[in-house]
Amino acid sequence: MRIAILSRNANLYSTSRLAEAALQREHEVEVVDPLRCYMNITSRRHRVLVRGEPLEKFDAVIPRIGASVTFYGTAVVRQLELAGTYSVNESQAIARSRDKLRSLQILARKGVPMPRTGFAHNTRDVDGVIASVGGAPLVIKCLEGTQGIGVVLAETNDAAASVIEAFRGLNANILVQEFVAEARGTDVRAFVVGEEVVASMERVAPEGEFRSNLHRGATARETTLSDDENRTALKAARALGLRVAGVDFMRSKDGPVVLEVNSSPGLQGIETCSGIDVALSIIRFVEGHAGSGRSRDDIRH
Ligand code: ADP
Ligand code: MG
Repeated sequence: MRIAILSRNANLYSTSRLAEAALQREHEVEVVDPLRCYMNITSRRHRVLVRGEPLEKFDAVIPRIGASVTFYGTAVVRQLELAGTYSVNESQAIARSRDKLRSLQILARKGVPMPRTGFAHNTRDVDGVIASVGGAPLVIKCLEGTQGIGVVLAETNDAAASVIEAFRGLNANILVQEFVAEARGTDVRAFVVGEEVVASMERVAPEGEFRSNLHRGATARETTLSDDENRTALKAARALGLRVAGVDFMRSKDGPVVLEVNSSPGLQGIETCSGIDVALSIIRFVEGHAGSGRSRDDIRH
């Protein structure tokens, strides 16, 4: 097969591992920078070009669209879909997963467990939204943040109100969530490929920190998922229409609660920690599913 990996940088660990796995399976593979793609949008001929060459020649694309290039990156994937190219994660699903509020609403609709979450626009409604998630301590999240930036723990209702007002004063959209104290700075990343969790790891925040992002200095260790956790991870990925996903959840006293679902989950942490060849699982999935034709995303939100 001819496989394109849509990625800004061929030297990134995840990108190079995917390329390596594709070559190992004797595919032709090319890393294409989504920001160097340009599109010809006409109703009859859908094309994406790179340096004058059309991209339709690929049998499949593996999008690795970073959060900072979501808008243009998903437009490129969408254009490839219009041209009939199979994309492991479809543009709609990527866009959906990038919007924290929208994804939580979709997960809730599908009955995926999550921490109690509130959302408000007007600062006059701050007290109401705080009360609706059970009061302090609670976690306030800036909707545009990733890698733990913009995620704040407020220990009291007054602190929560001040933080919310400060964010709103900067016109940032935030959501408010019950603090899952019993997770003790630990969350779990389940790496989903198709209908299977292929690898998982637990991330532990450093002393004095409640955020377990690897970018915030957390350490990773192997973990085994319970049946319930496994089911929840698959349900979350499916709810958002993602075939490759990193589902992050915390182990609460009532079982797993999903925090977010990542559509371009990194391979380095999970492969190093689990010793599993996740890149190969993704390539094998592509082998089994490319050629199945047009976009099949039928999630209505
Ligand atoms: P980001 O997109 O910035 O990674 P997350 O929602 O994943 O945002 O939050 C970052 C980290 O903060 C999580 O990995 C988790 O360790 C911690 N965290 C997030 N929400 C909660 C919560 N409701 N209760 C306890 N800890 C949380
Ligand atoms: Mg996170």
